[in-house]
Amino acid sequence: MAEIGFVGLGNMGRPMARRLLDAGHAVRGFDVAAPAREAAGAAGLPLAGDMRAAVEGAEAVFTMLPAGADVRAVYCEAGGLLEAVGPDTLLVDCSTIDLETARAVHEEASAGGFAMLDAPVSGGVGGAEAGTLTFMVGGDEGAVARGEPLMAAMGRNIVHAGGPGNGQAAKMCNNMVLGVSMIAVSEAFTLAERVGLDAQTLFDIVSTASGQCWSLTSYCPVPGPVPSSPANRDYRAGFTAAMMLKDLRLARGAAQASGANTPLGSHAAALYEQYCADGEEGSDFSGIVRMLRGAG
Ligand code: NAD
Repeated sequence: MAEIGFVGLGNMGRPMARRLLDAGHAVRGFDVAAPAREAAGAAGLPLAGDMRAAVEGAEAVFTMLPAGADVRAVYCEAGGLLEAVGPDTLLVDCSTIDLETARAVHEEASAGGFAMLDAPVSGGVGGAEAGTLTFMVGGDEGAVARGEPLMAAMGRNIVHAGGPGNGQAAKMCNNMVLGVSMIAVSEAFTLAERVGLDAQTLFDIVSTASGQCWSLTSYCPVPGPVPSSPANRDYRAGFTAAMMLKDLRLARGAAQASGANTPLGSHAAALYEQYCADGEEGSDFSGIVRMLRGAG
C-alpha cells in the first residue's frame, strides 16, 4: 500500500481521495479552502496543515484542481509541488485543463527528473464516489504502469492516450462531441415539438436509428424518456453548464492554437456562453434545451 498526497479536495477530489483511503492506502490531503477541508475531514480523510506536509515523503501525489492556472501554481511556483516532493514521487494531475499548460507542467516536471501523468477523468461526482471513473492518461509507459494500480482504486477504465498532454487532448475531444451532440439532440426535440411529433415517439425512433447517441439515450434533455436524466429533476446538475462551457472553451482554444477546423465546437461554445449568461451556469448542461425552445 502506498503513501499518497492528495491536493484539491473539492467535489471530485474528496471522493477520489476517499476511494484511495478505502483501498488501504495512507492518504494525506490538503485544500486551500476551509470549507473543502471541513468537508474532507467530515468524510474521514486525514488532513495535513499545508501542502508540503501533505506531499512530503509520498510515493505518489494526486492533484484535482479547478483550472490550468491553479495547476501551474501548485506545481511550479516557489514552494510548489516540484520543490516539495522527493525525487521518486509519481505526480498525477487529474484536473481538466488546457493542453498548453498540461504540456508545460509535464516539461517542468520532467526537467526536475519527475515522472508525471495528466489523467483527467469523466464520470462526474457519482463516478468518483462509486469508483467507476474513466481516466484518460497522458505520459510515458513507465509512469502509466506505476499510476495504474492507484487509479484502479478510483476508476473502472484507465486508458493510455499517448504522451504528455494526450489525456487532456482526449478529454477535450470527447467533451466537444458531448456538447455538440447535446445541442443537436435538443434541437431535434425542439423541432419535433413544433411540427407535431411527440417527444417519446421521437425518442423511441431515434434511439434505435442512426441519430442514436449518449446525449439522447443516457441523458435525454427532455423529461420522460430517460427517468435518470436531469430533465426529470428540473435540470439540477449533474454536469453543470459552466463545466461544459469550460471544456468547450478548452477545445476552442486548442483548435485555434493548432489550426484545427471545428466550427460546430466553436458554435457550441458560443451557445453555452449565451446559456450561462442567462444565469444558468449552475444548471445541468442538458437544460440548454430550454433556451433553444424559447429562442425559436
Ligand atoms: P471543485 O472546485 O469542487 O474542487 C477544486 C478544489 O481545488 C477546491 O476545493 C479548491 O479549493 C482546491 N484548490 C484550488 N487551488 C488550490 C491550491 N492551490 N491548493 C490546494 N487546493 C486548491 O472542482 P471539482 O468539481 O472537484 O473539479 C475539479 C476538476 O475536475 C476540474 O478541473 C473539473 O473540470 C474536473 N472535472 C469535474 C467533474 C465534475 O463533475 N465536478 C467531472 C470531471 C472532471
